[in-house]
Amino acid sequence: MRYVDEYRNEAEATRFVQALEGVVTRPWSLMEICGGQTHTLMKSGIDQMFPESVTMIHGPGCPVCVTPLELIDRALVIARRPEVIFTSFGDMLRVPGSTTDLLSVKSEGGDVRIVYSPLDAVKLAQQNPDREVVFFAVGFETTAPANAMAVWRANELGLENFSILCSHVLVPPAMEALLGAPDNRVHGFLAAGHVCTVMGYWEYDPIAEKYQIPITVTGFEPLDLLQGAYMTLKALEEGRWGVENQYTRSVSKEGNRPAQKLLGEVFEVCDRKWRGIGEIPGSGYRLRPELRQYDAELRFDVGEIVAQEAPECIAGEILKGQKKPHECSAYGTKCTPEHPLGAPMVSSEGACAAYYLYARHE
Ligand code: SF4
Repeated sequence: MRYVDEYRNEAEATRFVQALEGVVTRPWSLMEICGGQTHTLMKSGIDQMFPESVTMIHGPGCPVCVTPLELIDRALVIARRPEVIFTSFGDMLRVPGSTTDLLSVKSEGGDVRIVYSPLDAVKLAQQNPDREVVFFAVGFETTAPANAMAVWRANELGLENFSILCSHVLVPPAMEALLGAPDNRVHGFLAAGHVCTVMGYWEYDPIAEKYQIPITVTGFEPLDLLQGAYMTLKALEEGRWGVENQYTRSVSKEGNRPAQKLLGEVFEVCDRKWRGIGEIPGSGYRLRPELRQYDAELRFDVGEIVAQEAPECIAGEILKGQKKPHECSAYGTKCTPEHPLGAPMVSSEGACAAYYLYARHE
């Protein structure tokens, strides 16, 4: 197939659904890692085409959703400072902190700007030597190389007025945390294709081996997801485990080695708190000690910030597949995409937002 439309072909999708029905003999639960994949499942209606005995669990792979509330509060404190130009991708501007969001800070006079690349923020720092330029560096392994490049470039230029507010998260430790939990329900994973475009899938072999589960690197179009589910379910039915690659048009086992090298030069692995899940050991990146001068949290010393999540929110149970969004008492009433109470309603890639948008109300 050469064109994206071909990955949305209805007749092909029907053939895959028939193939799934032919292969599945017992109940299985699969987790699609990425919020983009959740979105495709709902938008295309694939979630309603799977055999009844197959349950899709919507994983924590939405970068906006898993950014801790405290970090958003820290961003708000920094963005209000008069000497700061606070830069971010557009999707973080409407994400509410404990009391307000970056868009409101901007409307109140804060210098908050949308950029399309972290290197644009570096340019802003060059153009405004009397201001402090901060970039909000959140996301998975997909966005980390560009942010690493921005820090590397700022360091090369000797810029002293550029920093990043960093909350990068890593997929494999989150998969291990889910699999190692006593209440784990996941039998197989559809791994996020774009993360593997950067990192490859060599990191997943030990996980598949340790937990004896199938992991299929999967793309984002409807036929990708159907094929990824078919490959994973076939492996489960045949009692096989290991890693397979459905997304061969973009992903190689070794991934993008130059990008991985850059990541290793700029970041080191650290423990990281995931919104809705909690702290996962070794699941984040922070700047290496020799580059900590680019860490906005250290530069601005915002102090201890403690944020309280809404008590009604059952995001953790949803991310582990124990409950569906519509089983939350706040879903669609107190909690909507316009007024989100918790992480999975914050971004359209979050599971609660996807259920709301595509009317999966029961
Ligand atoms: S509907 Fe809202 S409050 Fe309920 S789990 Fe989802 S994000 Fe949390």
